Amino acid sequence: MASGANSFDYSSLKELLKDTNAEVLLPGDGEVYEKSIERWSEHCIKRAAAVVRVTCADDVSATLAQIRKHNIPFTVRGGGHSTSGAASIKDGIVIDLSKMRKVTVDPEAKTIKAEGGTIWEDVDVEAAKYSLATVGGTVNHTGVGGLTLGGGYGYLTGKYGLTIDNLLSVDIVLVSGDQVLASSTSHADLFWAVRGAGQNFGVVTAFTFQGYEQKNPIFAGPLIFLPDKIPQIVAFANKFHKTNDGNQALLWGFSAPPPANAPVVLTQLFHNGTEEEGKAFFADLFELGPVANMTAMIPYAQLNSLLNQNAGFDGRKQFGGGAFKLPLNPDFVIQLHAEFNAFVASHERMNESMMLFETIPYKKIIEVPNEKTAFANRGDYYNVATMFKWFDPSLDSEIRNFSRDLLKKASETATSRSKDSGVGQYGNYATADVEADEIFGANVKRLEELKHKYDPDNLFSHGTRLTPRPLVVVN
Ligand SMILES: Cc1cc2nc3c(=O)[nH]c(=O)nc-3n(C[C@H](O)[C@H](O)[C@H](O)COP(=O)(O)OP(=O)(O)OC[C@H]3O[C@@H](n4cnc5c(N)ncnc54)[C@H](O)[C@@H]3O)c2cc1C
Repeated sequence: MASGANSFDYSSLKELLKDTNAEVLLPGDGEVYEKSIERWSEHCIKRAAAVVRVTCADDVSATLAQIRKHNIPFTVRGGGHSTSGAASIKDGIVIDLSKMRKVTVDPEAKTIKAEGGTIWEDVDVEAAKYSLATVGGTVNHTGVGGLTLGGGYGYLTGKYGLTIDNLLSVDIVLVSGDQVLASSTSHADLFWAVRGAGQNFGVVTAFTFQGYEQKNPIFAGPLIFLPDKIPQIVAFANKFHKTNDGNQALLWGFSAPPPANAPVVLTQLFHNGTEEEGKAFFADLFELGPVANMTAMIPYAQLNSLLNQNAGFDGRKQFGGGAFKLPLNPDFVIQLHAEFNAFVASHERMNESMMLFETIPYKKIIEVPNEKTAFANRGDYYNVATMFKWFDPSLDSEIRNFSRDLLKKASETATSRSKDSGVGQYGNYATADVEADEIFGANVKRLEELKHKYDPDNLFSHGTRLTPRPLVVVN
């Protein structure tokens, strides 16, 4: 990160950027500024010295020119959902992409071009007008930017792989201000880096995705159970591992959501097909006697809104991630639930926290070797995530420590991964203290060499820590 900007007069930015279409917001600008520093987690709100709301690649280049000239610390905001704090900064500039939300579909080529500040709802809704869909996040107010640059898992992953596996190109502004297209045939090395570590290489002003025909409605929704059903739910997850054909997904985990605020096991079902097929596939769960059943046939564009209510904007939140392998032993899961539940129950207003076992089929993901993209979490295992929600700032470090220990324990089943398997840590769930090699594994070396090529002074340093290193040629 650039330093020595303390003497910079941030109010001069309005004049310096007056020939652009960017809007400069300063702390004295009232409500509009206060709104601009809001984030999905209150935990990540920082009072930026200036927020520059850009509208196009030229605005980004002009802002980066000032950043370079005056040595100003900065970061980039996409959808504002990361809980590591990477999209916020205290004494510096936020390049805010929230005005860049246009989506353009090419129905002939079946491609979807989304500007850098779009959220998944923008993409899902526009693509659906052409009966198309791509692999988007499971909560549709999440940003396309951060989710894609870090990898991207969604309900369609079982069929089409990760979000980055369906990324055809990016329009990216480099730290030099140069605007380039990165794809498999243009700046291919940069395109390799962008798919998993993109936050470290530039500002992506547009993503172009492969779309797929999605004419049929889908069967999806939550079934909610009391915790005494954990053994049967685990038994079903173990069966799911063998019986799914990539057209299904199963998210399941613990929480104590309102209005009852009592511990439950949430399951979120997805089947890309008819109700009859979906009900037959998930029959074991339906027969278990859920206390609530909100499954239904819905248009695909609605699918990624189903979990929105579990992911509201109030409170402090933190994601954490690990990995698990199936089959799981039900007693092991009962023990994890007891620990999670005891911690949540012993703290005030933490009941909306969740621990989620994301049983999203990985067969398509591991068709791509880990060295083919910077993303290095491809393996024969699934992601487990914690999402803690609380209100008292004095609990921040206690929660961080508890989450880390719980995820470590939950990940024990995945420690027997083969050597060429992935790292077992999804970068987009990682907390700020997770090191680069834990996220990128053997890809760190090449990433650091590419940092040296594309961002030698490490100005894009607000995400995962990568250090630019020159390529060493051994004769
Ligand atoms: C409620 C919720 C649900 C989630 N569900 C899923 C899911 O289903 N699948 C999944 O894979 N992940 C999921 N995640 C994790 C998600 O991928 C990350 O939180 C991601 O960082 C969100 O991206 P964002 O653009 O909203 O975040 P931001 O906080 O805006 O950005 C995250 C990082 O990316 C950088 N960045 C963002 N946009 C750009 C851009 N255009 N150019 C350059 N850098 C950029 C930022 O500088 C920052 O470093 C979820 C997160 C939440 C909070």
